[in-house]
Amino acid sequence: MYNILVLAEHVEGKIKKTTLELVGKASLLAKELGGSINVCLIGSKTESEVHALAAYGAQKVFLVNQDQLEKYNTIAYTQVLAQVVSESKPTILLATASPMGKDLFPRLAARLKAGLVTDCIELKINQGKLIAKKPVYSGKAFATGHFNTPIQMATTRPNSFPMIVADPNAKAEISSVTFDPGTLCAEIKEVVQGLVGKTDLTEAEIIVSGGRAMGKSENFQVLQALADVIGATVGASRAAVDSGYAPHDMQVGQTGKVVNPKLYIACGISGAIQHLAGMRTSKVIVAINKDPEAPIFSKADYGIVGDLFTIVPLLTEEFRKLLSES
Ligand SMILES: Cc1cc2nc3c(=O)[nH]c(=O)nc-3n(C[C@H](O)[C@H](O)[C@H](O)COP(=O)(O)OP(=O)(O)OC[C@H]3O[C@@H](n4cnc5c(N)ncnc54)[C@H](O)[C@@H]3O)c2cc1C
Repeated sequence: MYNILVLAEHVEGKIKKTTLELVGKASLLAKELGGSINVCLIGSKTESEVHALAAYGAQKVFLVNQDQLEKYNTIAYTQVLAQVVSESKPTILLATASPMGKDLFPRLAARLKAGLVTDCIELKINQGKLIAKKPVYSGKAFATGHFNTPIQMATTRPNSFPMIVADPNAKAEISSVTFDPGTLCAEIKEVVQGLVGKTDLTEAEIIVSGGRAMGKSENFQVLQALADVIGATVGASRAAVDSGYAPHDMQVGQTGKVVNPKLYIACGISGAIQHLAGMRTSKVIVAINKDPEAPIFSKADYGIVGDLFTIVPLLTEEFRKLLSES
């Protein structure tokens, strides 16, 4: 029997959209395999979220709820997940390529002696086996991973799969798992959040990014105003970050964050290869640049040649009008 196990992520007890996206994708894969879909939900007081996982296809939820697991702890979560794996015996193990997934899955893969393909943008089944596609060489090419280990593991880039239609009446079986925290050598006391109340760039569906052309940090307000209207998160190029106009957690690119939004609006960004490395898988790219020869235009789906300080406020106003009408 094929069996897929998805690691769920939540923020303050609420399941992340990226997890629901992945559970939905896993449920489609499970249908193809003729297998079942299980989810592992680790944390504290998250029982109320089981219904959300069920709505997207989870048939069984391994619930590990303990106060010591409220904050992410690599060693604890590896132990817990290994315990759930030995109980649920998955053939496929999936997580989002979030900071947690990137930290946890390689460690778990080593422990399980399982093959792992990271940061995938496509998952398929071929003859009962998982096929995982991922960008390589800064997104200039794609590699397809095949597995020859009994457990096949993959992390997936957020926003890679469409959300399936949720079934609010679906129910999942709950299996409570108890973890012995006595063996832990470290405890997480506090987690300090950078982007409080904002969607992280890596999970954002719309991003408005500014480059060196922003000139000073105050000018990012122009982008923030547009972002507020269209529900976007603001990003930056490395030149903007290095110039002190924006903090590093806003940097998109090879040495910043890899993003995968539905819409990426690049404002005053030239389109250097290292910037493209972080955003070229965006579904639609809009570039605003006053240089018609800027390389970003060769990657953009839509280009606007002009001064961003004129164009962005105009766009903000137009979107405000349009969205208030709808
Ligand atoms: C190892 C390494 C890693 C790197 N990692 C990253 C990374 O992670 N992310 C990243 O972004 N870069 C990275 N870089 C840097 C990268 O090579 C570029 O230097 C950087 O992306 C340039 O940023 P920019 O496009 O904002 O600035 P510029 O290249 O200076 O471009 C500014 C653009 O703004 C336009 N412009 C100016 N004024 C206006 C205006 N008023 N209105 C509209 N357009 C205007 C100009 O025409 C120009 O095209 C890395 C470089 C190296 C060597």
